[in-house]
Amino acid sequence: MSTAAAIRRSFTDPELAEIAAVRRDLHAHPELAFEETRTAALVAERLQALGLEPRTGVGKTGVLATVGGGRPGPTVLLRADMDALPIQEENDVPYRSSVPGRMHACGHDCHTAVLLGVARHLAREAGTLPGAVRLCFQPAEESGGGAEAMIRDGALEAPRPDAAFGLHVWQTLDLGKVGVTPGPFMAAVDDFTVTVTGVGAHAAMPHLGVDPVVCIAHMIAALQTIASRRASPLLEVVVSVTQVRAGTAFNIIPGTAWMNGTTRVFDPELWKRLPELFQTIVRGVAEAFGCRAEVDYRRFNRPTVNDPAMCRIAHAAAAEVVGESNVVTDVRTMGGEDFSAFLHHVPGCFIAVGSRNAEKGLVWEHHHPRFDVDEACLGIGAEILVRTAKRFLGGGA
Ligand SMILES: [Zn+2]
Ligand SMILES: [Zn+2]
Repeated sequence: MSTAAAIRRSFTDPELAEIAAVRRDLHAHPELAFEETRTAALVAERLQALGLEPRTGVGKTGVLATVGGGRPGPTVLLRADMDALPIQEENDVPYRSSVPGRMHACGHDCHTAVLLGVARHLAREAGTLPGAVRLCFQPAEESGGGAEAMIRDGALEAPRPDAAFGLHVWQTLDLGKVGVTPGPFMAAVDDFTVTVTGVGAHAAMPHLGVDPVVCIAHMIAALQTIASRRASPLLEVVVSVTQVRAGTAFNIIPGTAWMNGTTRVFDPELWKRLPELFQTIVRGVAEAFGCRAEVDYRRFNRPTVNDPAMCRIAHAAAAEVVGESNVVTDVRTMGGEDFSAFLHHVPGCFIAVGSRNAEKGLVWEHHHPRFDVDEACLGIGAEILVRTAKRFLGGGA
């Protein structure tokens, strides 16, 4: 018998079925960033039914609640995000999205359902918990800003949590695998918009104008040298121009051209230098072509950096649930995550819970119209979060 099968589980079968049912309910009713009113109401209602006193409207549509605290001890924050994406679902499942053009295509329905399951378990043991667990149901992860909004509204105050943990279902990991990566785990995300202004002209007489299209084309090519020539080859960095717009007709050189996109990086030092590197290239190319460039370069998410000591706690909890050989420590992605905002203030760990199952055809990536998870990952995630929180509080698992 494997270690995983031998351990005592925290959840009964009806409790696991309830987590899946909540997930399906949320999946069928997706709401976009800062519009999670139905979801937040469902969360608050269920927390109240557990005897907790949720605070709603935190960071606009977020919900906070505290379990335990009857015995003195530290406070640990557990976070789930609640928002969906503007995508039309293409899955033909009984719980498919009932809202056209909206879909839980990242799995945040899973995270919310899991944290409600965890709340139910912890509420049962509230009197004996050596410390408190702050349950944080966060809006607007995808659009950015949800975590910061909750922090501005007091999510990290009175008292300040000593640690923060969260999880994400993970489609590049098979069901039964769990990723706990110490150090940089997800990338910093910046986004940029550039407007290049030249002088419009007849397409047949380019010398009478200043062509912003040729200029922006050189900018796009030159920006790739940030990764290939300016950053150390040993560092990860991505520069992606994802939208380019210019012009109205085949025979008119337009007066302006526009682009936007994103940069991703792990290394904090390179992250600091990126805005200047970016602007130097854009302005230099603009000048060389006789154009003017307006640059709007913004920070979107910090890098998600897991604290090694908190990782050891999450790793031990995960190993109890799926077995040591199924805990991987090198999962990393250039994707970003605004859980990083919590980790900027308190040590913690963001856990990747394998959700892919090729045998069931559940292989589509996050943000794909056919994204779906093997729901067995819900129980694994809930079990790991409960054990991580209890280990941190010192109450064992
Ligand atoms: Zn996402
Ligand atoms: Zn996500």
